[in-house]
Amino acid sequence: MNIILLGPPGAGKGTQARRLVAERGMVQLSTGDMLREARTSGTEMGKRVAAVMDSGALVTDEIVIGLIAEKLEGDTGGGIIFDGFPRTLAQADALSDLLGEKNTELATVIEMQVDDDALVARITARSTCADCGEVYNDNTKPIPADGKCSNCGSDKITRRADDNEDSLKTRLLAYYKQTSPLIGYYYAKGLLTDVDGLAEMDDVAAEIKKKLDTV
Ligand code: AMP
Repeated sequence: MNIILLGPPGAGKGTQARRLVAERGMVQLSTGDMLREARTSGTEMGKRVAAVMDSGALVTDEIVIGLIAEKLEGDTGGGIIFDGFPRTLAQADALSDLLGEKNTELATVIEMQVDDDALVARITARSTCADCGEVYNDNTKPIPADGKCSNCGSDKITRRADDNEDSLKTRLLAYYKQTSPLIGYYYAKGLLTDVDGLAEMDDVAAEIKKKLDTV
């Protein structure tokens, strides 16, 4: 089963995707994670995307579609969770073509609904484990006293360069301008459903599970 988690930055897509990986053996494809990996690799592409990411704008469709196409060539086991992709209509069309070539399709698109004030509060207080993606929050889930990730033991818990108020404004604008049209796009295809992304993490997970069990 292939699904998309759709929602603005800070909606909890990555957190829920990791749970689905653990619980259902699905594969998480996060273009944000792929781009962060590319920027530390020192490649030409990595250098080009770093500045764009830090500003909060979107990286070109060509680059992210290329990254996804490459991953789709590998084993996609118990189904794919697209996390942070697609973010434009061109990416959505490309995804549909790529899945068609693999003789597979999307089962559902889950929109994670949250309001902007909550996003700003979440993102400006957020730290992330660079090794496993575990998310910490200064107010609700502080980094452990020994500085080590409670999930994987790594000591690489950092603030993302783009988790600041200036980049966030650009990221939200990009979401409303370029990504939110996908809500209508997938509604028209009969694939859209939604969950309350502001609920407790376990409740959001239970809601997603319910949706997946009925598709
Ligand atoms: P994320 O980790 O999903 O919040 O993504 C971090 C940043 O990576 C975004 O602000 C964009 O600059 C870039 N990015 C991630 N996914 C995409 C995508 N599908 N299309 C364009 N840019 C992306």
